Amino acid sequence: MRGKLRAAVLLVVLLCLLAPIARAAECEPGQHDYTETRRTPATAMEDGEADYVCAICGHQYTKLLFATDHLWGNWITDQKPTCTEPGQRHRICTRTQPHTENAAIPALGHKYKETRKEPTCLEPGKSVFVCANDSAHTYEEAIPAPGSHSFGEWTEKTPAGEGAEGLEARECIRCGFSETNVLAALPTTTAEPPTEPATAPPTEPPAEPPRTIPVVDIVLVGANTVALGWFAFLLIPYFFGLAFAKRRRKALEERDALRKEVYELHGYK
Ligand SMILES: [Zn+2]
Ligand SMILES: [Zn+2]
Ligand SMILES: [Zn+2]
Ligand SMILES: [Zn+2]
Repeated sequence: MRGKLRAAVLLVVLLCLLAPIARAAECEPGQHDYTETRRTPATAMEDGEADYVCAICGHQYTKLLFATDHLWGNWITDQKPTCTEPGQRHRICTRTQPHTENAAIPALGHKYKETRKEPTCLEPGKSVFVCANDSAHTYEEAIPAPGSHSFGEWTEKTPAGEGAEGLEARECIRCGFSETNVLAALPTTTAEPPTEPATAPPTEPPAEPPRTIPVVDIVLVGANTVALGWFAFLLIPYFFGLAFAKRRRKALEERDALRKEVYELHGYK
């Protein structure tokens, strides 16, 4: 019993010591140099086999050759694909030796659907894109606004009257925005003028004055002329009188001078 235990311990120790050597004889994964040593080809309905031996380390294995006419079941999805990442699926063949085939499911790609919010004349709109596969996938695009209204023709809403303002309006053909403009009031023709023409028709008064006015003028001009003539007639004697008075004064002065001279000569006082 003790001998057996000692032998077992010794074996373990020996194996531990030899392990590095044995490991050194193994190939690194993927470094084997296999050679096919035997092959039983698969038929349409039956699996075959193939033996392989590594020329370096002597490792050998048998590969199953599946029957060529597979009996595939339905694909089973292991991982659903996303818009950007492929998924995974497999199917099982139940011909002879059950075996599976794995395959990738291609990425779905985004399936964006556009929801438009149309721009108004002055405010930009936007297109919102949401992915039908994943509503978290979304982005927006701005739709620029025209920046101004597109007005039609001005239409008179309330015509301008005498002393009353009118109103005209026009509408934007795109957004329906309406703009108004005040029409200036027409000049007021007061209520009197219409009555004046009514009384004016008897145009005799204006016709009469033209006749009377020249008569008055003629009379006045005539009167003035007569007055001036009379005044001139009166002035002539006046000037003659003045001239005569002057001459007389001169004559008197001369007489006085002579008298004075005579007095001095005769010695009068
Ligand atoms: Zn090997
Ligand atoms: Zn198969
Ligand atoms: Zn998406
Ligand atoms: Zn507009």
